[in-house]
Amino acid sequence: MVLDLVPKTAYTELLQDLLLGKAITREEACFLFQAQASDFTALLWVAGQLRDQGRGKYVSYSRKVFLPLTNICRDRCAYCTFRRDPDEAGAKTMTPEEVRQQARRARALGCKEALFSMGDKPELAFPQVKRALQDLGYPDSRSYLHAMCELVLEEGLLPHANPGLMDEAELLRLREVNVSMGLMLENISDRLLEKGQAHHACPDKVPQLRLRTIELAGKHRIPFTTGILIGIGETIAERVDSLFAIQKLHAQYGHIQEVIIQNFRTKPTIPMRDWPEPTLWDHLRTIAISRLILGPDMNIQAPPNLNQDAYPLLLLAGINDWGGISPLTRDFINPEAPWPHISRLRDHTHTAGFVLKERLAIYPEYIRRQGFLAASLRPRVEAMIDAEGYARQE
Ligand code: SF4
Repeated sequence: MVLDLVPKTAYTELLQDLLLGKAITREEACFLFQAQASDFTALLWVAGQLRDQGRGKYVSYSRKVFLPLTNICRDRCAYCTFRRDPDEAGAKTMTPEEVRQQARRARALGCKEALFSMGDKPELAFPQVKRALQDLGYPDSRSYLHAMCELVLEEGLLPHANPGLMDEAELLRLREVNVSMGLMLENISDRLLEKGQAHHACPDKVPQLRLRTIELAGKHRIPFTTGILIGIGETIAERVDSLFAIQKLHAQYGHIQEVIIQNFRTKPTIPMRDWPEPTLWDHLRTIAISRLILGPDMNIQAPPNLNQDAYPLLLLAGINDWGGISPLTRDFINPEAPWPHISRLRDHTHTAGFVLKERLAIYPEYIRRQGFLAASLRPRVEAMIDAEGYARQE
């Protein structure tokens, strides 16, 4: 075993045990963050081995169109460049006609996923948003989202909605028109809600409420995407606790189809513009330790547009998914970071010894498992997959 070739330390002995199947504890995960020199190399190697055991050599991505249904939001995350107040320059709610036009363009370019991102419940904070939604014929933003999911289904795309906190009724309703849904946990720390912290003045970023939405999604067998955002003022212990909270919900409900390990990127217009970005080293060790906590079978993703030129290293650290890549729209959440061309991503993935596979917004294992896909959506999904459950090439 390669671990026999590196100096034996308490660190590498722990890695050896984890590789052989020992369950990691919170204290051990925090300890692993201290990796230096050859310990760090060993950490990445073990994470890569576990990824290979569970996921093989496939690295997936989803060909998607990004639909920012509205950028008006009642929260004020200090790292966000997307949100606007209704009267602010750039405030925008897409019309149904704009959604349809984008969906048609996307389908013509081979996209299969419609990713709906939007500000959280703007109508609760801004009466003019509520009036505008009523003028469109909808009582609230979630009803509008539901209708737009139906619209893009008509155009041949599979919706994945990411509208923020959801209650049980909203999840059940959206489940019928989404093949999967998502909500980033971001971080489990209540401390980040305090004045001067990343989630101050964000009523929808209360960790317990986010965990509740993720749990309800599990109760109703909704394939779910979540993840953490690193470098926003959290401690290492809080980062580890966030990963264990995700792991615990997945152990109970089995519905977490992927976990995103996203790195904070600074932008000139955000309140956190002077905040240091996490280093590549920090991102890599977090990905690797996420793999040790979440296990060989979990789909772990790092967005490639936030890590230009680091593709092979992200693979070495244990990811097996690049997330959604759009040939049509920019990343509205990180507009400074263009998505890579799919051919470039394929080249990098192949050079590192992996096979790039296009997937749908629902992973193959959740198509196979009974009860994780609304019956009305199954025929559409079945028509779009190959024998392994990945996207059929058109
Ligand atoms: S990150 Fe999301 S919830 Fe936070 S301000 Fe931006 S749009 Fe709103």
